[in-house]
Amino acid sequence: MARRRRPPPRRSPKKRVYKRTFKAVCASCGKELMMEVALPPEKDLICLDCFRKSEEK
Ligand SMILES: [Zn+2]
Repeated sequence: MARRRRPPPRRSPKKRVYKRTFKAVCASCGKELMMEVALPPEKDLICLDCFRKSEEK
């Protein structure tokens, strides 16, 4: 009789995490940004500083 066993969760103690980053340039100040997600190039990217500046009015 075959018992169905749940496969143990895959564990790797020191798994190297590759965080893929994408380079982008702030459309406002030209600072280089590292994005964790790829965004469409036509989208204007701004860094956090510029974003905050644009938010506060
Ligand atoms: Zn900026």
